[in-house]
Amino acid sequence: MRLVFVGPPGAGKGTQAENIVRDYGLFHLSTGDALRAAVKAKTPIGLEAEKYMNAGALVPDEVVIGVVVERLDEAKSGCLLDGFPRTIAQAEALDKILAEKNSPLDVVIELAVPDDELFTRLASRGRADDNPDVIKQRLVAYHTQTEPLVDYYTKSGILKKIDAVGTIEEVYAKIKKVLDEYK
Ligand code: ADP
Repeated sequence: MRLVFVGPPGAGKGTQAENIVRDYGLFHLSTGDALRAAVKAKTPIGLEAEKYMNAGALVPDEVVIGVVVERLDEAKSGCLLDGFPRTIAQAEALDKILAEKNSPLDVVIELAVPDDELFTRLASRGRADDNPDVIKQRLVAYHTQTEPLVDYYTKSGILKKIDAVGTIEEVYAKIKKVLDEYK
């Protein structure tokens, strides 16, 4: 199974990804985690990415696509992409990569949460990019650059929208219901 999570910052993508990886054994690729590791290790990609991340902006497509291409080969028995794609250009690049492997996406799960709730969640999390000004920028980036993916994947017929307000367990139960259709 090849699965993508789309949703605003704070929607719970990382938390739910851990549940899925535990129960379904998928290879998990979080571009946010990969970029944070690159920043920490001060690699050339990390040094380039850091300034965008600290400003709440998206890292340039070619940088992120490079990170994904490098890691996707590890995904033999399916994958869960979390935080990628985040732009239409990234989605098109992903479609192309997966078409070459003859392994298209099965499902895209949108985790929907209203902005005011996201703001509260992120402000209490305390990561370096979780201060109010940067959070605002990340939400703007989401609505302008990432939300168009909802239309993109609705058109390809693989989008499932989940209301992601509720406890972690409640949201996970909804996700499982969707995934169990693909087993
Ligand atoms: P969140 O979903 O909470 O914003 P992530 O860990 O997914 O957290 O991403 C953190 C930051 O990493 C983003 O604000 C952005 O700067 C960068 N980033 C992660 N994935 C991508 C991507 N696919 N394209 C561009 N930038 C990305």
